[in-house]
Amino acid sequence: MRLLIAMMKHETNTFSPVPTPLARFGHGPGPLYGDAAVAAYRGTGSGLGAYLDVAARERAEVVLPIAAGASPSRPVDDAAFEHIAGHICEAVAKGGFDGILLDLHGAMVTESFEDGEGELLRRIRALDARTPIAVSYDMHANLYPAMIENATVVSGYRTYPHIDTYETAVRAGDILMRAIRGEVRPVIAWGNVPMLPHVMRQGSDDHPNKELQARCAGMTVEDGALIASLFTGFPHADIANAGLSAVVVTNGDRDLAERLRDELLDRAWVERDAFVYQIEPLAEALGRAKAMPALGPGEGPIVLLDHYDNCASGGTMDTTIVLGEIIKAGLENVAAFAIFDPQAVQQAITAGIGAQVTLSVGGKMKMPQIPGESPALSLTGTVKTISNGRFRNKGPVGRGVLTDMGPSVVIDTGRVEVALIPRHVEPSDLNCFLSLGIDPLQKHYVMLKSRVHWRAGLGQMAKAVVDCAGIGVCTSDYSQLTFVKVRRPIYPLDLPNR
Ligand SMILES: [Zn+2]
Repeated sequence: MRLLIAMMKHETNTFSPVPTPLARFGHGPGPLYGDAAVAAYRGTGSGLGAYLDVAARERAEVVLPIAAGASPSRPVDDAAFEHIAGHICEAVAKGGFDGILLDLHGAMVTESFEDGEGELLRRIRALDARTPIAVSYDMHANLYPAMIENATVVSGYRTYPHIDTYETAVRAGDILMRAIRGEVRPVIAWGNVPMLPHVMRQGSDDHPNKELQARCAGMTVEDGALIASLFTGFPHADIANAGLSAVVVTNGDRDLAERLRDELLDRAWVERDAFVYQIEPLAEALGRAKAMPALGPGEGPIVLLDHYDNCASGGTMDTTIVLGEIIKAGLENVAAFAIFDPQAVQQAITAGIGAQVTLSVGGKMKMPQIPGESPALSLTGTVKTISNGRFRNKGPVGRGVLTDMGPSVVIDTGRVEVALIPRHVEPSDLNCFLSLGIDPLQKHYVMLKSRVHWRAGLGQMAKAVVDCAGIGVCTSDYSQLTFVKVRRPIYPLDLPNR
C-alpha cells in the first residue's frame, strides 16, 4: 500500500493584523518536507503522528510532501498557500496512491479563498478523481461544501482544549483503510445552523459542548455511524460560512447520516443561549482576584486570563492593558505569559542576566479592525532568564512536539515576572513556564494570554480563574467586530433569543 500524507493547518482570524507568510508555517523558517517532516512528527501525539502510525501498522509506503502549520493570524498570503497546496498537488499528480490522508485545520482563509482547505481539495480532485481521501479537521473548522464533498471520510476533534488530535486522525485513517479494503462504503451528510458560538463558551468540559460531543461519540456506538463530528466553528472570521456545523459519516446509509446530522444541529441550536458569553469589566475582575485569599507556596495560582489577546486565535499577543492593570493593582508574586516583543527581547539579551533594564514592551502592532488604543508598557526590572525558548510539549496537547518560542527572556519587576517572547506561542503547556525557569505552582497569580487551551496543560494547577477583559483581536465583545461577509441573519448577532 502507498499513502500520501500531508499537513496544512491555519486558523485564520480575519480581524487580525498579524501577517501569515510562508515563514510562519513551521517550527523555524517555514514548513518541513519529506523525511524531515516524518522525523519531526513520527511518535508524537499530533494528527500527522497518528497518520504515520496508521501507515506503519498497514506496512504502507509513505510519501509526505509537506507539513505546514502556522499559529493563527490574518488571511494566509496567496504565495504561501500556493506553495503548500502546490507541493501537495505535485505529489498527487505523480499518482500511484491507494489513499490520501490530510491533517487540515478547516478555518483557513487565504487572500483569495474563504475556504483554503476546500480549494486544496478541489485541486486534488481535479488531478485525481478516484483515490480515497481522509481529512481530519479542528473543532473550530468553518465548513464549506468543497471541504466535505471532495473527501471520502471526515473526522473532527471532540475536545477543546484539543487533546484528541491524535485520536481524531486515527478515526479518519482507520475508516479510510477499511474503505480502501472495501469493508465499508462511507457516505457523508453535513450541514450548518446560523449561529456563532462564543469561543469562551466552547470548552468541551462545559455545558453545552460537553453533551454535544458526548452525543457524537455515542452515535458511533449506539446508532451505527462510522464517525460523527460537531464543529463549534471559529467566529473571528468574517466569511460566509463561519459558525457551527456537523458532519456524520455512515456505512452506505445516507438517511441515517442525514438524520444524525440533523439531530446534532437541532441539539446545538436549542442550546444557542448557552453558547453566549457574559463579560465582566476588568476593574471588577481584578478587584475580585485581589480579594481572594493568599495561597501557600505550591498550592497553585489564581489564573488571570487575558482572553482578548490569545495568539492561538490570531491575537497580536502584545497588548498590555491587563498586565498594566495587574501591576497598577499591586498584585504580588505574579508570572505573566507572555508579551510578544522581539525588539524588547533583544534589548534584554544585550543587557544580560542580572542587568536592571527599563523596556518599552508591547503595543507595537496596530489593530485597525478593533476599537481603542493598545499602548506600550514601560517595564522596569531585572533580566532574570535568557533562554533559547525551545522545549518539547509535555502534553496533553501535541505531546512530544517541539515548540520553538525563539530566544526568550523573563523580566522580574520584584512583584511580577514577565515573559517576553519573539514568536507567537499560546501558554497551553507547562513547559512554557518551566523552560523559562518559572514554576507556576509557586506563584500566587499567573496571567495567561489564552482562552480555553491553557486548561490542557495548566488547568489542573489553577486554584481559581478570573477572566480579564482587555483589548485584542480575539475580543470577547463581538459588538467590537464588524461583520460584513458572514451570512445573515446569524445568532447572536441578529436573531432574537427565541
Ligand atoms: Zn481549534
